[in-house]
Amino acid sequence: MKPPALILRHATGTCPVFIGPGILPELPAILDALLPGRRPVVISDAQVAAAVPPPLDAPLLSFPAGEASKTRDTWARLTDDLLALGVGRDGAVVALGGGVTGDLAGFVAATYLRGIPFVQVPTSLLAMLDASIGGKTGVDVPAGKNLVGAFHQPAAVVIDPRALGTLPEREYRAGLAEAVKHAAIADPSELSWLDARVEPLLARDEAVVDGLLRRSIAIKAAIVMADEREGGRRAALNAGHTVAHAIESVSGYSVLHGEAVAIGLVTEARLGERLGVTASGTAAILAQLLARCGLPVSLPPELDRDALIAAMQSDKKNRQGALRFALLRSAGVTAEPWATPVPEGVIRDVL
Ligand code: NAD
Repeated sequence: MKPPALILRHATGTCPVFIGPGILPELPAILDALLPGRRPVVISDAQVAAAVPPPLDAPLLSFPAGEASKTRDTWARLTDDLLALGVGRDGAVVALGGGVTGDLAGFVAATYLRGIPFVQVPTSLLAMLDASIGGKTGVDVPAGKNLVGAFHQPAAVVIDPRALGTLPEREYRAGLAEAVKHAAIADPSELSWLDARVEPLLARDEAVVDGLLRRSIAIKAAIVMADEREGGRRAALNAGHTVAHAIESVSGYSVLHGEAVAIGLVTEARLGERLGVTASGTAAILAQLLARCGLPVSLPPELDRDALIAAMQSDKKNRQGALRFALLRSAGVTAEPWATPVPEGVIRDVL
């Protein structure tokens, strides 16, 4: 077994993150080493189950692909299926798939028999560089995204960039939005690194993708280790997300999470510029890079502005009625406080 690329330390232990082209067949050995004697069950959406055959001999539970499955209903069915399989406290969940699978299977693991271990095996770019890292799990509810969930750190994350071989182009590009977000909240040099590599990234050059995963995961892991439960700095990871979650919800999830994040990053930079918090020109810098990645950067005109504002009201970051945003100081620099209140009139103007 190769050593992990990094080890994430959290309140209840450590989480090794294994990254490498061709590492997937090592999953059984990794499970034996980290979760000896446990009986794994794989949870995967149907599209991933067909495209990326589970690399271990274990029962497979699947559900229809897509955000529409990230619900309490699917959680209920999966937990019932685990009970029907007779999975006990010696069980473990392997979440094989994109961010929907990771969030959902992670929430199943967090709650099943009051919590069993799980391993993240992300197969989308977005899940590899973002959703599989940090222990946030949960489901969407009619009132909004991710409003019911739990912090549950995976026992390990196993990332094989070769699994991206079957990922549809639109989904791949959506993953680049979270990479831009990580760079935008980390350091201007990270944005320059990305800016210089858009073409090889779009061509899925294995070495460049491997490099992106390592850099992007290091950014997220450092933030999560500093503030696991989002008391402060971790909220910077929500850059672009207040607007993004509203777009996803109002569009009935026809806009992908990563696409909504791209639009959200630019829209929230405009908000910050309007307030004088964000340096002018930041929205333009982000829009140019995101557009080169093949991502949308402006709000779809058909989305009702009142509905977007109403959807933002149910965001988890809000307190005492004020809408809050994780704003940037400039491209590559975050602004404190991590969740800045913004008057509704300013939001309405910018939308
Ligand atoms: P997803 O899981 O729906 O995957 C996107 C699509 O790609 C699905 O149709 C899936 O079947 C398919 N797919 C994935 N890997 C594939 C592969 N290798 N080959 C073929 N098809 C493949 O969505 P996503 O974009 O991966 O993740 C978005 C979700 O992640 C959202 O629900 C978002 O809220 C969540 N998220 C969570 C966190 C977190 O910290 N927990 C962070 C960011 C995003």
